[in-house]
Amino acid sequence: METFVCAGCGRIYLENSQRCGHCGGDLEERPASGRGIVYSFSSVHMGARGMPTPYLLALVELEEGGRILARLADNDEGEPSIGDKVVFSGLSDTGPVFRLF
Ligand SMILES: [Zn+2]
Repeated sequence: METFVCAGCGRIYLENSQRCGHCGGDLEERPASGRGIVYSFSSVHMGARGMPTPYLLALVELEEGGRILARLADNDEGEPSIGDKVVFSGLSDTGPVFRLF
């Protein structure tokens, strides 16, 4: 998993858009393990058009530091708990997806 970290504000991106969309700072490439933990999550019942609901939206704290907003893949065990381990599963049309592991 590749991440791009803003030198100005520390925001993390999964795609290199050259400049930070928040502060305009330069993005620096940083490899990431793809592992992290659920820092916080919410069940979304009214999502973007064409997006099946409900789905779980989580703030994932990456192993290397920093947090990114991502969808949690469906799993058989129901809702996760804060601190559960997750791993990067891929990029979807609507952004990054992590799954419990
Ligand atoms: Zn920035």
